[in-house]
Amino acid sequence: MSQAGTAQTEKGAAKRRCPVITEDGFILSMNPRTGETLKKIPITPADDVKKVVAEAREAQKRWAALPFFERERALKKVSQYFLDNMDTIAEEIAKENGKTVYEAVLMELLGAIDFITWFAGRAKKALKDRKVPLHLMPTARSYLTYKPVGVVGVIAPWNYPLITPISDIAPALAAGNAVVFKPSEFSSGVGQLIERCFKEAGFPAGVLRAVYGGGDVGAALVSSGVDHIGFTGSTATGKKVMETAAKTLTPVTLELGGKDPAIVLMDADLDEAAQGILWGGFSNMGQTCASVERVYVHEGVYNKFRDKLVEQAKQHLNMDAANPQSQFGSMNNELQAALVNNQLKDAEEKGANVLFRLETPKNDGFYVAPTIIDGVTEDMELFAAETFGPIIPLYPFSSADEAINKANDSPYGLSASIWTKNYNRGEMIARSLHAGVVTINDHMITPGFAEAPWGGVKDSGIGRIKSEDALRGFSEVKYIYHDRGMMPHKAWRYPYNKAKLAFLKDMAIANNDMSFVNRAKAYMRVLPQFLFGFKKQD
Ligand code: NDP
Repeated sequence: MSQAGTAQTEKGAAKRRCPVITEDGFILSMNPRTGETLKKIPITPADDVKKVVAEAREAQKRWAALPFFERERALKKVSQYFLDNMDTIAEEIAKENGKTVYEAVLMELLGAIDFITWFAGRAKKALKDRKVPLHLMPTARSYLTYKPVGVVGVIAPWNYPLITPISDIAPALAAGNAVVFKPSEFSSGVGQLIERCFKEAGFPAGVLRAVYGGGDVGAALVSSGVDHIGFTGSTATGKKVMETAAKTLTPVTLELGGKDPAIVLMDADLDEAAQGILWGGFSNMGQTCASVERVYVHEGVYNKFRDKLVEQAKQHLNMDAANPQSQFGSMNNELQAALVNNQLKDAEEKGANVLFRLETPKNDGFYVAPTIIDGVTEDMELFAAETFGPIIPLYPFSSADEAINKANDSPYGLSASIWTKNYNRGEMIARSLHAGVVTINDHMITPGFAEAPWGGVKDSGIGRIKSEDALRGFSEVKYIYHDRGMMPHKAWRYPYNKAKLAFLKDMAIANNDMSFVNRAKAYMRVLPQFLFGFKKQD
């Protein structure tokens, strides 16, 4: 999306009606439904990013020195602030992003508030020292300690401008780090909102900083000397981020694109599957990394499921901008709307069947008509490329193996769902799918759970966010080994001699020989040397 960040005049930007970077150094935050400019946000010059990181580093020392309970309290004041201001915050998000207020509450605020509270409360337990018992040296004290890495750079996309950055910001801060955060140029207004909420909640100054701009500012953050990069965005940009980070060996977590499959088995509850897949494919206008983009339906129930899905879509969905019950806002930006409409046009021109299409409002906001489609073939772009828009394609299959192979036949592997009443079969298929997350009888539910790790395999990314592991992921792990003097006779010390060599070989046997008798005999041979030491000899 960063191509949109090429310099534009304000007039040109208004014509494009999406946030752009102006020649005089501002991002125009815009309402994608109306083209109204909401605010002008000054760009952080790429050269200043290092300075911001250096300032954050100073603030981090004070933040990390606070006891866990004080950090917890400061973060919980932020989640309380979000709670107390849910209505205005949801409206602000909806206005810049294009999504509905309902989805701003459901898919942004609920999770973001919960993540801040959960990580704040969990950090002490997750980051306490952990024993590492050593079977070769049971007398030693051996454990792991965790300390913050320092400054974490968070780079976020526009589709979930609150919950996505908070998924990294909350655990990084709770673990004692400072954060420098770059929102997408398409969601810089919400970036400012996040900064403002932390400030107004009394969060210590300087510990969370934001930098604004396009891809060049993101790249500057990656090479700024931060201690970890939490990146969420497209696979193409993720690869660039990793390449830049490699130069300084900066660790990265990459949450990238997806082409998520849903598999509807013969014995699925078809009403439940239709509801879940409709929501999984259409919510947030399909602009979700984990939205359903391929639905594989057993041929025995294909027609029945297809009719139910279309029926539910007709019954429940409307896209009337004036109707507060409307499920749909607009797409976030012109480029994404064009990309999705082009995929749809290409599929239709090559013979796909449109089964359902919702009428879009008659104004010139960035809309894509939510569409259910079948007859999609390999020569259509929609078949394999990420769509990131409200299109649900259906494909029949005749055996579970075929469905698994089709689901796995993608460069992406973010999440997947299986719809069945046979729980054992569902879980067996779940294990066969090459994806970071698999859900049975639901889709896209787990990104809202703080405890549940999130992330993909293959082109969908590296590493996991959320869960206790995220707190440890934003920490430097140190292993401490303490010889407490309970092992006076050390075979590895000089002088080497035959007795010590025999002892070492016996140790290998005592610990590893497949025969119990051999292990027991070797153990009996080494025991006296443990207790009384080695004979002095050559
Ligand atoms: P992009 O990759 O275009 O942008 C993501 C972020 O990276 C933006 O802040 C962008 O800035 C910034 N950026 C651009 N170029 C660089 C660079 N060279 N170095 C560092 N940062 C850079 O993704 P989109 O914003 O278009 O987001 C959509 C994508 O995100 C989809 O592929 C979607 O699947 C994925 N995604 C994945 C999620 C997951 O959990 N796996 C969750 C949400 C989305 P700017 O926008 O200003 O150009």
